[in-house]
Amino acid sequence: MSEQQHRSKSGFMTRAIHAGYEPDPTTGAVIPPIFATSTYKQDGVGGLRGGYEYSRSGNPTRTALEGAIAALEEGERGFAFASGLAAEDTLVRTTCRPGDHVVIPDDAYGGTFRLFDKVEKVWGVEHSPAPVSDVDAVRAAIRPGQTKLVWVETPTNPLLNIGDIEALAAVAHDAGALLVVDNTFASPYLQQPLTLGADVVVHSTTKYCGGHSDVVGGALVVRDLDLAERVAFHQNSIGAVAGPFDSFLVQRGLKTLGIRMDRHCDNAERVVEFLAGHAKVAQVIYPGLPEHPGHAVAARQMSRFGGMVSFRVAGGEEHALAVCDRAEVFTLAESLGGIESLIEHPGRMTHASVAGTDLEVPADLVRLSVGIETVDDLLADLDRALG
Ligand SMILES: *Cc1c(COP(=O)(O)O)cnc(C)c1O
Repeated sequence: MSEQQHRSKSGFMTRAIHAGYEPDPTTGAVIPPIFATSTYKQDGVGGLRGGYEYSRSGNPTRTALEGAIAALEEGERGFAFASGLAAEDTLVRTTCRPGDHVVIPDDAYGGTFRLFDKVEKVWGVEHSPAPVSDVDAVRAAIRPGQTKLVWVETPTNPLLNIGDIEALAAVAHDAGALLVVDNTFASPYLQQPLTLGADVVVHSTTKYCGGHSDVVGGALVVRDLDLAERVAFHQNSIGAVAGPFDSFLVQRGLKTLGIRMDRHCDNAERVVEFLAGHAKVAQVIYPGLPEHPGHAVAARQMSRFGGMVSFRVAGGEEHALAVCDRAEVFTLAESLGGIESLIEHPGRMTHASVAGTDLEVPADLVRLSVGIETVDDLLADLDRALG
């Protein structure tokens, strides 16, 4: 089957396994080799083989990953970076100039907020926070003529708020801005923002795409060829590219993304059910729960509700910290999206930097990244940790 057919006709798992790579013509290698090379022999001056000249500009292992992630997001072209934040910075410098403005989630991933607040601002790109779950608030935050990007995460972190991608795309486009969706929490298996009107998808491939907590990486996928050309120029000019070893690991992760996500979701659903019935739990936050304010939108735009679960512990911060300390199968650590279950206290860990601001999270909040272990062991661990 040709590359084009993989993109347009095949199912998700087939694309995840095959898109972006044809078995190597010289050896028949079924899996993309790790091309640990910085440069490429030319057949006479300017006679490039397959367009490869220098590995910042292009490397076959990275090309395979970029093709795969573009196919999974149903985009025109994908780009792999050294980290999620490197992808974000490259996108901002591609699309914004001094004096431009970006609307960001009022509960954006901390590193994204810091990038806009401490770095992009210095270079003249301003930002306004708005809640992604409130389309009118996002519209009101737009500065006509000045806003170039409407930046959305859905679900958000750690309160799992949901933004309506279709409605937000219309709001952005009305103002002549692009809609950027950070799809890290859902992964392309559960949600394809480009098919709902978004212009750019951002990933920290460190999380579900890589999926094994063994690599840091990022990606952009775009729908428009002209924007793709401009991103390609900036990716090469800035140079924060994914190396061949990292590209190999992320693509290896993508091949099993579908089965991992189904298991993450299965286990998360059981964890939610268990926590909802537990006397020491004050509130469970999960977009799959009918009482979650974003449930209807999530049900429309996601195929399932993901592996991230947050909950508030009865008895306040002290008890929330004790739960984190007592868990054993759930490892106490930041990050998310790997095969192993993680537990953390956002107020003291991932979100410590927003303490005392409007973005402060409840002190009794615990966040889980539910892994793919045997679910009974996860439930027993939570039961023990809750005491
Ligand atoms: C981790 C994360 C990022 C940043 O990605 P890095 O790979 O750590 O640079 C961006 N957005 C979200 C939602 C994340 O979880």
